[in-house]
Amino acid sequence: MSAPAKKTPWNPSRKAMARVSNPLPAPEQCPYCGGPVQIVNNGEIYGRVYGEWPWAYLCRPCDAYVGMHPFTHIPLGTLADRETREARKSAKAPFEALHRSRLMDRDTAYRLLAERLGIPQAECHFGWFDPDLCARAKQAAESILREYLP
Ligand SMILES: [Zn+2]
Repeated sequence: MSAPAKKTPWNPSRKAMARVSNPLPAPEQCPYCGGPVQIVNNGEIYGRVYGEWPWAYLCRPCDAYVGMHPFTHIPLGTLADRETREARKSAKAPFEALHRSRLMDRDTAYRLLAERLGIPQAECHFGWFDPDLCARAKQAAESILREYLP
């Protein structure tokens, strides 16, 4: 018997693929510059290979990128340029504080955030947000935090 083929984005784990809920399609064209999107080893982005599944989608002309769910080729979110990456990071900080502080669990935090943003909970992923929605999410998370803090 031959050894099973090594898992890559071109030979993903079927189990891992099936576990991802609401999978986004693989990006083909960059939404920022229209350039082609390629699968790369993330060492090309970060300068060193990072994580157990070191793959990403990258637009070389404008340096927009997004990682993949482990052992799949399903993107973690939409392709993000620098502005979007920073907006997502900044919006996520007060949201993480909501459940890290044990004011509520993660599911409740997502449910409340989705309600405040007026979007379905299935679409409430920071990796899917554009900078405008990030700004609204940041405000919403900060106001939830104020309301729930003792
Ligand atoms: Zn681009």
